[in-house]
Amino acid sequence: MEAEENFAGTSQGARLSVVATPIGNLEDLSPRAKAVLASADCIACEDTRTSGNLLRRFGIARPLLAYHDHNEQASAAGIADRIAAGAHIALVCDAGTPTLSDPGFRVVRECRRRGLAVETIPGPCALIAALSASGLPTNAFAFYGFLAPKTAARRRFLEELRDEKMTLALYESCHRIRAFAEEIHEILGPQRVVCFARELTKLHETVLTGTIADILPQMTGKNLKGEFVVLIAPADFEL
Ligand code: SAM
Repeated sequence: MEAEENFAGTSQGARLSVVATPIGNLEDLSPRAKAVLASADCIACEDTRTSGNLLRRFGIARPLLAYHDHNEQASAAGIADRIAAGAHIALVCDAGTPTLSDPGFRVVRECRRRGLAVETIPGPCALIAALSASGLPTNAFAFYGFLAPKTAARRRFLEELRDEKMTLALYESCHRIRAFAEEIHEILGPQRVVCFARELTKLHETVLTGTIADILPQMTGKNLKGEFVVLIAPADFEL
């Protein structure tokens, strides 16, 4: 049993390590993540400045390689080439888990296609943190990432999902959060249960769970800054 529990911690050699980093609270960087980042030949990141700042806080100095959406295809091949040649590369994003509404999917797919070793160093993820603190059902959920910014597309999305049986999870910008709450109220009805999870793991963490009729007034007239995860409970769910 002990050997099994330790198995992942003993990975060595050429591989891609997909590493989750904090979504706010730096204490959430796991010891295993620190060890992997400190020992990687190179850290592939979205933004070398953001990841450089994080790594400096932990005294980690490794070469950084910029990796973002617009060069993801080319970088994926380059990263896989380096792993095939024997390198250990850690993949991080600005915050949270790579590939979840963040770059990284193509490099993981490329490594898998080539049969290269890929390991996960799991940790913070806004989606999972919100679900776990929400009180909404988590047995079946659908994650939609960021919704289209256009009002018509967002309204259509809600209309199509009116009778949904799963919990719906979305990332939303603070600029649209109040308008989105009003749309939920209007299209899904005042009794729909929702959760607005804001600034998770940070100083102003706020998780509001209730019917949209109860939550909406709490969002009106406030300066709603920060990062949000929005969860919408199944149509028949009651608190
Ligand atoms: N890959 C990240 C993850 O694992 O959570 C998500 C990255 S996505 C580009 C950024 C969005 O995630 C934000 O706009 C917000 O919707 C959500 N998010 C990130 N950090 C958050 C936090 N601390 N609290 C609430 N939502 C957060």
